[in-house]
Amino acid sequence: MKFVYSFKDGNKEMKDLLGGKGANLAEMTTIGLPVPQGFTVTTAACNEFYNNDETLWDELKTEIFEELKKLEEITGKTFGSLDKPLLVSVRSGAKISMPGMMDTILNLGLNDEVAESLAKITENPRFVYDSYRRFIQMFSDVVMGVPKHIFEDVLTDEKSKKGYRYDTELTTDDLKKIVAEFKELYKKEIGENFPQEPREQLLNAVHAVFSSWNNDRAIMYRDINGIAHDLGTAVNVQSMVFGNMGDDCGTGVAFTRNPSTGEKKLMGEFLMNAQGEDVVAGIRTPVPIAKLNEVNPGAYDEFVNVCKTLEGHYKDMQDIEFTIENKKLYLLQTRNGKRTAQAALKIAIEMFEEGLITKDQALMRIEPKQLDQLLHPTFDKQSLENAKMIASGLAASPGAATGKIFFTAESASKNAKDNQKVILVRTETSPEDLEGMVAAEGILTSRGGRTSHAAVVARGMGKCCVCGCEDIYVDEKNLQFEVNGKVYKEGDYISIDGSTGKIYDGIVETNDASLSENFNTLMKWADDRRKLQVRTNADTPNDAANAIKFGAEGIGLCRTEHMFFEETRISAIREMIVASSKTEREVALEKLLPFQKEDFIGIFKVMKEKPVTIRLLDPPLHEFLPKDDEEIKELADNMNISYELLKNQVTSLHEFNPMLGHRGCRLAISYPEIAVMQTRAIIEAAIAVKKEEGYDVKPEIMIPLVGNITELTFIEKVVKEVADSIIKESGVELNYLYGTMIEVPRGALTSDEIAQTAEFFSFGTNDLTQMTYGFSRDDANKFINDYKVKGVFDTDPFVSIDETGVGKLMKIAVDLGRKTRPNIKLGICGEHGGDPKSIDFCNRLGLNYVSCSPFRVPIARLAAAQAVIKQEQK
Ligand code: ADP
Ligand code: MG
Ligand code: MG
Repeated sequence: MKFVYSFKDGNKEMKDLLGGKGANLAEMTTIGLPVPQGFTVTTAACNEFYNNDETLWDELKTEIFEELKKLEEITGKTFGSLDKPLLVSVRSGAKISMPGMMDTILNLGLNDEVAESLAKITENPRFVYDSYRRFIQMFSDVVMGVPKHIFEDVLTDEKSKKGYRYDTELTTDDLKKIVAEFKELYKKEIGENFPQEPREQLLNAVHAVFSSWNNDRAIMYRDINGIAHDLGTAVNVQSMVFGNMGDDCGTGVAFTRNPSTGEKKLMGEFLMNAQGEDVVAGIRTPVPIAKLNEVNPGAYDEFVNVCKTLEGHYKDMQDIEFTIENKKLYLLQTRNGKRTAQAALKIAIEMFEEGLITKDQALMRIEPKQLDQLLHPTFDKQSLENAKMIASGLAASPGAATGKIFFTAESASKNAKDNQKVILVRTETSPEDLEGMVAAEGILTSRGGRTSHAAVVARGMGKCCVCGCEDIYVDEKNLQFEVNGKVYKEGDYISIDGSTGKIYDGIVETNDASLSENFNTLMKWADDRRKLQVRTNADTPNDAANAIKFGAEGIGLCRTEHMFFEETRISAIREMIVASSKTEREVALEKLLPFQKEDFIGIFKVMKEKPVTIRLLDPPLHEFLPKDDEEIKELADNMNISYELLKNQVTSLHEFNPMLGHRGCRLAISYPEIAVMQTRAIIEAAIAVKKEEGYDVKPEIMIPLVGNITELTFIEKVVKEVADSIIKESGVELNYLYGTMIEVPRGALTSDEIAQTAEFFSFGTNDLTQMTYGFSRDDANKFINDYKVKGVFDTDPFVSIDETGVGKLMKIAVDLGRKTRPNIKLGICGEHGGDPKSIDFCNRLGLNYVSCSPFRVPIARLAAAQAVIKQEQK
C-alpha cells in the first residue's frame, strides 16, 4: 500500500485519503496554479501508526524519504545542505477540518549551520534568523509541548527593552540573540539540545501530527460533532516559500466573495514582511487586499485571476491562503469558504445566474438549518464579540433575546406591559406560565429537553428559548439564579441565544430579521422541486398567519389543549376536570365551547381553504390541575365546593406515570362529552366561516394516542353523530376528515385495521420515539447526552428520527395503511417534521406532508427539495 502521495498524484476527490488540505493542494497543482511542491502522508498511514504502537515504521520512513528526494529534485534544493538548503512546512489536515488538531510547523530543516550558510547566500540574515526563531518556537510548542508563552515572553521582553512596537523592527542581532535564548529555553525545558538533524526534525513532526489526532481536545471535538474516530489525519510536507524576506514579500488570506454579505467582490487581508499566521494573530494590523494593487500590481492581478480560476474550478466561493515571495505569488490553501445564511443565498443564486452551477446545485448549497438565521433576530456580531458567556444549555428555539430576568409569569407579563424587555427564567415551565412566555422576549429553563413544555411552546411562538441549562441554579423562591457563584436577581439583564444555547451576561444588541428577495427566489426553486407538502403546527390564528407567511400549505397539528392554557379559560377547564359527575362536567364544557369555537373560527379564517388538522384533547389531565393549597382553595371557592372535596379530587387524579396514563383518546373514552364539545366547536366554527366568508374550509379531526381500532371506532361514533347532525341542521355542505395519530407502537403495527376507519394518519414521532425506546422524553436529555459523548448514539432520536427502529414502525404503518386504504393521507407532526434529516426520511417513505412549527416551514421546504434531489442522484 502506498502511504505517501506527491501533490502531483492527488486530486480534490481524494479527501478521505489525503485530508481536505492535501487534496486541495494536489488539485491546485494539477490545474497549474503556483503551489510550492510537496507531498502528503495519508490518513491510512495515521491509522496504521495507531496499529503500530504509535510508531513510524521503517517502510513508511523509507517512503517519506523517497518522496523527499523527489521534492529535492523538483526544487533543486537539498534537505540539510549548506549551499541550497530545502526548508519545509509540516501541516496537519484531516478530511473534515477540526480545531484542536496540531498546529503547523514552518521553516523545518533549519539548524545552526544551515542558518549561518543561508544568511550568507541570501545576504538576508534578518530573514533567516526571523525564520529560525519562529521554527524553534513552533517545533518546541507543537512537537515537544513546551508552552508557547515562554517564548513569547522572551520576544516581548526584547521588544520592550529596545522600545520596538512591531516584530519587524527587530534587527538581525536582536533575532540572533533571541534564537540563542530560545535554544537555551529548549534545553532547560527538555533537557537536550535543540535537534540539529533535519531528518530527525521531520520524523518527529510527522509523529506529532499523528499523535495529535488523539489528543483530548480532538477526541472531545469529534464526539460532540459526531465525527468518526477512525478517519485519521494526513500530514502535508511542503517546501517553504517566504513572506518574511522583506517588503516585497508578505502573506495573506482572502475570500473570493464576501462571506458575510455574499457580495461578488474579493475580500481579504494582507500583511507585508510576514509569515504564516501573522495575519490572523493580530500582531500587526493587516491591510485590505486591494492595497496589494498599489504595492505590487503584478502579484495583485495574478491573484485576482487565480481567484477567478479557483471559483470557476470549484464552482463555489473559496477561502484562500497565499504568500508572496519577492513579488511572486504562491498558493498555500484553498477550501470552500464558510458563510452566513444571507451570503449563502446570494452566492448560490448569483452563481446559478452566472451559469456556474445548476438550480439543483444552488439548492444543495444551502444548509437548511442556516435559514433559521434569516427568520429570527440575531445578535449583532460586534456586540457579541464583547459579550461575556456565563452558561450554556440546549438550543431549543432559535433567535436572540436580551432583557431583564423575571422568575414568575406574572412579573414577566406585568413588566412587559410596562414596555420592558423581559426574559422569563424558570426551572421548567408549565401551562400556567403561558402568559409570561407570551410576554417574554425569550425563555430560559434549567430543566427539560428539546421537547419539554418550554421548548415546544416557544418554538410554536417562534420565540427564543434555551432549556435544560443545568449550569444555572434557579431559586424560584428567592427570585434569583446562580451560576458559577454569581447571583442574578430580578431585573438584571441577560442575553440568550436560542440557536446556540449560549447565555450571556448583560445586554447584547440584536438585529431584526427580514425576508429578502433572494430568500423568496430560493424558496420558489425549492417548491418547484419538492414532493412533500409542508404544513405547520399552529394553535392560534397568529401562529397560523405567521406560518402562511413562511409558506405553510395547511395545519398538520392544532393542539386544542393549548387553547385552554390562557388565564381566563384555565378555571373552566379545571372545573371540567374535577367534575364529579357527567352533568357537572357538561356545565363546565358548556363554558369552554364558545372559547374553542371562537379560536377555530379565527384559525379557519386565516387558513381559508387549506386543510386544518385539529387534534382532540391529548395531555394528561393533571397538567391543568391546581398545584398548591392556595390554588386549590381559590378554585374551590370559585366552584362553590369545599376545599376538602376538591383536594380529594385532585389527589385522586394523581398518576404515577402520566406520560403513559390517562391521556389522549383515553380521555374521550372515559368522558365522551369532551369529544362532543370539541367536535361541536370545530364543526360549528367551520360552518360559520363557510357561511360568512364563503371559504370551502377543510377541517380534519384527529384522535391522539390510538393503539387499537376499537378506540378509534368508539370515538368515531361520538364525533360523527354530533358532526353530521350539526351539518345537516345547518344546511351547509361541509366535508371533514376523520383520522388518527400513529404514535403508539401498537397503532403502527395494526394500522391496516386502523385505516379501515381512519382517513388519514399523522405520525406523532415524539411519542412514538418515547414509546418505542421506552425513553421518557421529559427526562431523556439527562442521559442521551452521555450516550452521545460515549459514542453510544451519534444523534439524539428526539432530534432526528431513528430510521432503523422508529422508522421501521413508520414504514410498517405506511404500507399497511395504504394496503387498506390506497389514498390514505399520510403526514408527520412530531418535532421531527422540521428536522432536515428526518424530512429526507419522510420523503423516502413517500409521506404526503410534513408539519413543523411556523419558523421551520422554510427549512422544511428546502429540506424536502434537497431530499428529492438526493434521491434522484442515487
Ligand atoms: P491551518 O490549518 O491552521 O490553517 P496551515 O497549515 O494552513 O494551518 O498553516 C498555517 C499558516 O502557515 C498559513 O498561513 C499558511 O499559509 C502558512 N504556511 C503553511 N505552509 C507554508 C509554506 N510551505 N510556505 C509558507 N507558508 C506556509
Ligand atoms: Mg490554513
Ligand atoms: Mg403525542
